Amino acid sequence: MLTRVRSEPQRAKEHACQASLELKRAMRDVANEFLCPTFSTEQDWKLHLRSGIHREDASLTMAAFGERGGLNLGCHNSSVDLSAAVVKRAAIQQDAVFHSNPERRRVARSRKRPLWVMKFGGTSVGNASCIGRAVEIIRAATRDSNIVVVVSAMSGVTDRLIEAAVLSEAGDRQQVAIILEELSNQHEAVAGALIPSPAERSHISCKMQEVFREGDHLCQGTMLLRELTQRARDTISSLGERLSAPLVAAALVDRGVASEAIDATELVVTDSFLGAPEPLMEVTRERCEARLRPLLDKGIVPVVTGYIGATSEGVLTTLGRGGSDYSATILGAVLDANQIIIWTDVDGILTADPRFVSGACTIPEISYREAAELAHFGAKVLHPKTLGPLMQSDIPVWIRSTFAPERSGTKITPSGSPNGGGVKALTAISDVALITVGGPGIVGVRDVLGRTFMTTGAARADVLLVSQSSSQNDICFVVPSAVAKRTIEALRREFAQDLAHHNVEHITLNQSAAVVAVVGEKMQGTPGIVGRIFGALGLENINIIAIAQGSSACNIAFLVAKKDVQAALVTTHREFQLAS
Ligand code: ADP
Ligand code: ASP
Ligand code: MG
Repeated sequence: MLTRVRSEPQRAKEHACQASLELKRAMRDVANEFLCPTFSTEQDWKLHLRSGIHREDASLTMAAFGERGGLNLGCHNSSVDLSAAVVKRAAIQQDAVFHSNPERRRVARSRKRPLWVMKFGGTSVGNASCIGRAVEIIRAATRDSNIVVVVSAMSGVTDRLIEAAVLSEAGDRQQVAIILEELSNQHEAVAGALIPSPAERSHISCKMQEVFREGDHLCQGTMLLRELTQRARDTISSLGERLSAPLVAAALVDRGVASEAIDATELVVTDSFLGAPEPLMEVTRERCEARLRPLLDKGIVPVVTGYIGATSEGVLTTLGRGGSDYSATILGAVLDANQIIIWTDVDGILTADPRFVSGACTIPEISYREAAELAHFGAKVLHPKTLGPLMQSDIPVWIRSTFAPERSGTKITPSGSPNGGGVKALTAISDVALITVGGPGIVGVRDVLGRTFMTTGAARADVLLVSQSSSQNDICFVVPSAVAKRTIEALRREFAQDLAHHNVEHITLNQSAAVVAVVGEKMQGTPGIVGRIFGALGLENINIIAIAQGSSACNIAFLVAKKDVQAALVTTHREFQLAS
């Protein structure tokens, strides 16, 4: 490959040009993020921007943008100190593990009525009859306990909203209008079926129309700018929860359970790393105590929107796809709940994803660590960060099916089942990208590992697996596909000089591999497990691209081609007789 060697002045000029482009992009982002939803023409919003009303907000956003790593003006005065941002973020991440105060826990445990957090996923509130079923479960639980409910959007709604957001960026006005209209009809029909009182129904309908108007304005703004900012994407994708929570609360009231819908933007405070925010647990605890405790004391069931939070300045953030599980454990941790129940469409955590392995069966009890590993490696039944807020607590989490509430499901406890050990479950994650940083000169590059992972940390890319060749010619690691682009861009910035001098020869992306993880406590101390896995896969002709074992005693992870994922799961499941 031929690379043009550029002189210093040339590089400085290019840097300045790049900086100016980034500044322009940042300005457009600010304009977009502060675009008032009521503007209908480009002229309108230009006038509005010129009026300077949002100058203060804009500078805040500029700071946030810089912190997101998008703005790196290098030689300019306005440069952003990325290392400071990294340190600050590391401090914030510390806060994501909530250190529950023992005295507070003792007081919480002595409460007359226990407190349960119950989360209902998309399928569990997917239509009027599902919501009816969820309401019966909640009503029964209120007899003995105080309940905080967390709800997802009705199934499929978030996907449709994101589709509308993406189509808005493409300027497809007609399709966007169709999607919003369909969603509005869907929610109105559910309200019609659930809420018999005309007055209540019209009240809820007004609330929902307000949400749709906001969605429409955001889509219009995106169409005008032809750019979908993270902030607009987050707000549009949050609408589903803001529709389902009032519906569930109204259905509860209709069945005689006092209830109030609450927007989690009032409760869950996150940092401002849009796209991958971390919750700030202590201030979230204060907000929850102030807002939820008085309701609970009066016997009112709060129905909280899952998936969303807000920065301390009130900017809406989302916790990532499937994030309502995370919302439930955040609330459970800060409120010192006695238990958290995640109601879903399967009987619990199964030995493998039932969509891939037909013989998968329910695991009665599993440890926090095992569940966290499974979630981290793609078991969709739990958001990857679900167990994070509970690591310092002993709050049990149950996974149960709304469709078979008589079954006990899976109990997740700090230490799992006493006779646990050995392979317990399998999972796979296909939505990943393999990034390689390498080249013969890499041995001489200063602190290549440190800089690589400092960069992934700053880009908030969860590294799922790492492998390095012994000669240090290549480091490869796996990150979720969603963050691959920003990770590779950040790495190319970090190693720009080394790439120019050919010390680092390539930074490449491979999207054709998938991670399979074998999970179980104490596997490390059980000889022969690795041999059995790879022996069985070898017999099925399944090639292993990379392996990681050792860093966690309860996980062996390896990479296979995406096309081999199902075969790898079925084979390993059979080898360890997990179906029995
Ligand atoms: P919800 O809408 O309730 O949040 P999800 O669709 O996010 O539900 O998660 C439940 C789905 O997770 C199940 O339907 C199942 O297909 C999938 N899944 C993947 N791995 C597992 C596993 N090990 N155990 C149970 N379910 C799993
Ligand atoms: N509604 C969001 C999603 O579909 C969050 C969730 O369901 O947990 O990703
Ligand atoms: Mg989910």
